[in-house]
Amino acid sequence: MSPPDRPEWSETGFPHIWLPYSQMKTTPRPVEAVASDGVRIRLADGRELVDGVASWWTAAHGYNHPHIRAAVTDQLERMPHVMLGGFVHEPALTLARRLSEILPGDLGHVFFSESGSVSVEIAMKMAVQYWLNQGIKGRARFVSFRFGYHGDTIGAMSVCDPDEGMHTMFHGLLPEQIVVDLPRDEAGFEQFDRVLASRTDEIAAVMLEPLVQAAGGMKFHDPSVLQRIAALCRKHDVLLVVDEIATGFCRTGTMFACEQAGVCPDIVTLSKSLTGGTMALAATVATDRVYDAFLSDRFDAALMHGPTYTGNPLACAAANASLDLFEREPRQDQAKRIEKQLVRDLQPCVGLPGVADVRCLGAIGVVQLNGPMDLNALRGRFVEKGVWIRPFGDIVYVMPPLVIESDDLAVLTGAIIDVVGEWSAAL
Ligand SMILES: *Cc1c(COP(=O)(O)O)cnc(C)c1O
Repeated sequence: MSPPDRPEWSETGFPHIWLPYSQMKTTPRPVEAVASDGVRIRLADGRELVDGVASWWTAAHGYNHPHIRAAVTDQLERMPHVMLGGFVHEPALTLARRLSEILPGDLGHVFFSESGSVSVEIAMKMAVQYWLNQGIKGRARFVSFRFGYHGDTIGAMSVCDPDEGMHTMFHGLLPEQIVVDLPRDEAGFEQFDRVLASRTDEIAAVMLEPLVQAAGGMKFHDPSVLQRIAALCRKHDVLLVVDEIATGFCRTGTMFACEQAGVCPDIVTLSKSLTGGTMALAATVATDRVYDAFLSDRFDAALMHGPTYTGNPLACAAANASLDLFEREPRQDQAKRIEKQLVRDLQPCVGLPGVADVRCLGAIGVVQLNGPMDLNALRGRFVEKGVWIRPFGDIVYVMPPLVIESDDLAVLTGAIIDVVGEWSAAL
């Protein structure tokens, strides 16, 4: 869009916004979104994009779902917010109960916050204090994995991949964790076993994204890897924190990824699709074993954390409505159907010069490239093709709303084949 066509709010506001993950000096002017519906986002100039990202993997049911809108509107009219310090309310208690019912095992104690990163910070505090509350000192470190990503706050950054991630320059500031290769074979598991054995008395917990290391490059691992990691955590009596922020709510084909491994972690973090892409909400959920370690006659054994908006009723109402949809509608089947179609329709990318790998899991399709990528140019080409696909790192990927119909999904994969094809031909 040429500048005179831009809405006035864009011209006057843009100099004052500081955008995420953007070099503000060189970043191309973003497209102006004005409305969304289903799997489409409308731009100020009237164009519509078919959405392949679900707004950072949140909009599981598509945008503006009438059931979620009605629930939030109803809650907005009665009580948009009340503090959870001293009050409880129906949306938060109902959501806590329902999450406890659908999560594996006895994950049944739910702490609410407003972002995934903060839910990870809370999980880390829970894990460290779990040991302290039992009089065990010094177990304050986390074992995490190369290509892992757990958020952008200080504690969460410390368990991300220190080299591949976006946080390299903060090395000196971050608590030092034990970041290891994700074990995938016998030698890897022996190595991992040795790390846990030799440093047990320093380690609070192992922190893992189950089945998919998402923001670290959409790297998949087998459920058996998760199973064996969980077994080694049990063997060495180290807590296991599973970060389901990206994988939770059917993204990998089951409600939670850890179900595929039959694993019940000690602590799980949830966010992204929790409200179906409508409100900021996250949850850190603990098992009885972890929760019970905080029960005491000593007040200082309590978990000292309390975000101002914790348990926000609007966000909890949105999440309850989103859970209704997961119950009523066939989201798992939809994710599996998406996987089938992605496997078939991304096939033409396999073997192209510069294409290192094509892989799909549930409603995630990934084309990994191994050549120089001009991310801004690629992103611009996708918009020109009428789709919202946003490559990062060395991958072009889709994580569309789970409700996407086959013909719209074909529009997304068609655009990938065209754009990756052009890129490959120009190598
Ligand atoms: C996105 C993400 C986070 C961080 O969540 P925010 O809401 O962006 O703070 C943490 N862990 C995983 C696995 C994620 O995908």
